[in-house]
Amino acid sequence: MLFPGLDRRIAEITERIADAAKRGGHGQATTIVAVTKTHGPDAPLAAFDAGLPDVGENKVQEALGKMDDVQVPARWHLIGHLQRNKVKSLDRFVLFHALDSSRLADAIDRFGIQLGKPIGVLMQVNPAREETKGGFDVKEVAGEADRLASMKGILVRGAMTIARNGADESELRATFGAVRETNRVLADAGHPATELSMGMSSDYELAVEEGATMVRLGSILFGERGK
Ligand SMILES: *Cc1c(COP(=O)(O)O)cnc(C)c1O
Repeated sequence: MLFPGLDRRIAEITERIADAAKRGGHGQATTIVAVTKTHGPDAPLAAFDAGLPDVGENKVQEALGKMDDVQVPARWHLIGHLQRNKVKSLDRFVLFHALDSSRLADAIDRFGIQLGKPIGVLMQVNPAREETKGGFDVKEVAGEADRLASMKGILVRGAMTIARNGADESELRATFGAVRETNRVLADAGHPATELSMGMSSDYELAVEEGATMVRLGSILFGERGK
């Protein structure tokens, strides 16, 4: 076993997620997206074998390379920034979590139209307005949601955020609550916005309390990453 104790960790996390959902009272189901970046193909394989078919990568090139070596029907999520000239890779993923600009949305829309099926995306929002992070300002969401509503090549299925590193509980709740509100704005504009991708190894329980439908877990599953 390349990741000893993985089954046990997944069992504990699953229990913690169920407890958090009960405390939060939003009634949602939560999917674990196993974040396998920096690991070899053994990580997505181990996740799949342990009952986690949803795997996430933050770099498209790394993800595509790994996919070719993983011969199980894992569901690949792209959770990090994508350059506009790489949008064609999106047909290899079940969901793109990091729509962070209008220009990228335009490029994805064109590709979806060309493909003949809309590309599923989450709008990345940046409630803490961190310079170092991508994503829409919360105030921009309504305008962008209206603009995207007419596009045939892109399907906005919800919102995503990366909370500020070191944020305390009240800031985390404010951040996750703002993202939940984003989904309401998206839905009002006509998008099928039901997914909330928020919460990582250090803050997933709070995220679930605040309504997360997907938590992106890396180090808590596979150990600390090198570099
Ligand atoms: C790496 C990464 C994660 C997982 O982080 P952990 O703290 O290891 O759980 C989640 N989301 C994104 C966007 C990431 O890049």
